[in-house]
Amino acid sequence: MLALVTGASRGIGRAVALELAKNNFNVAINYNNSMDAAKSLCSKINSMGVKAGYFKADVSNSDDVINLFKSVKDNMGENVSILVNNAGVTRDNLLMRMKNEDWQTVINTNLNAAFYCTREAIRDMAKARYGRIINIASVVGLTGNAGQANYAASKAGIIGFTKSIAREYANRGITANAIAPGFIETDMTEVLKPEAKEGILKSIPLGSIGKAEDVAKAAAFFASETSSYITGQVLAVDGGMTMI
Ligand code: NAP
Repeated sequence: MLALVTGASRGIGRAVALELAKNNFNVAINYNNSMDAAKSLCSKINSMGVKAGYFKADVSNSDDVINLFKSVKDNMGENVSILVNNAGVTRDNLLMRMKNEDWQTVINTNLNAAFYCTREAIRDMAKARYGRIINIASVVGLTGNAGQANYAASKAGIIGFTKSIAREYANRGITANAIAPGFIETDMTEVLKPEAKEGILKSIPLGSIGKAEDVAKAAAFFASETSSYITGQVLAVDGGMTMI
């Protein structure tokens, strides 16, 4: 079975691609700018004995997404059965200072991309009467966060989107679930100041910052048969930070 992971060149997406490969899924790695990283991940997965390919697309662009699905199907020789909508960006700022561009870039990349990709994937999944949609949200989509109005709105949006898709396609054997990571060590969080990191660490009951692999394991669960009776859920992978 083939899994497509968006934004799989680095961070959480990369870990998800590796974990799915470990679980014997073939993997289509989507990247936008980091071609060398995507290429080396592809070789690594191939060396694990499963099929992999790497595909450039800016998933915030609907034409790119249409071409992405076409080239994945042509090159991998099968339809996407598992879609992980992971690509994401931040453009943090206080609302008063937030530019239109900061708002639009975040909504386009974190929310619109999931719509474009899921719309492409769902037709074949519905025909096959099988599919798994796994959306990477965030705990701030549940709680909100000062300085992240754009990002929190995109992540709250993806949660509503997940639940709607879950209801719309449940009778076609398709499940849709969201994962809400808390604070995970990747390039995205690397930019935070040490004081900010210390403050966040204090709010995590399990007492440590999460790893991309922690999120990847949850994604592998939603991709597996083990989770076949679970749909429309949001699983926080956050060391107990939110407990909503
Ligand atoms: P990251 O290390 O910054 O990696 C982001 C990935 O997204 C990269 O592979 C990047 O690809 C890709 N990407 C960005 N824009 C893209 C676009 N337009 N088209 C295709 N790919 C694009 O981020 P991360 O921490 O792994 O985050 C992954 C997901 O988890 C995001 O949705 C993020 O919001 C969510 N999340 C992260 C945390 C955290 O603490 N890290 C917490 C909650 C939720 P290229 O480099 O190839 O451009």
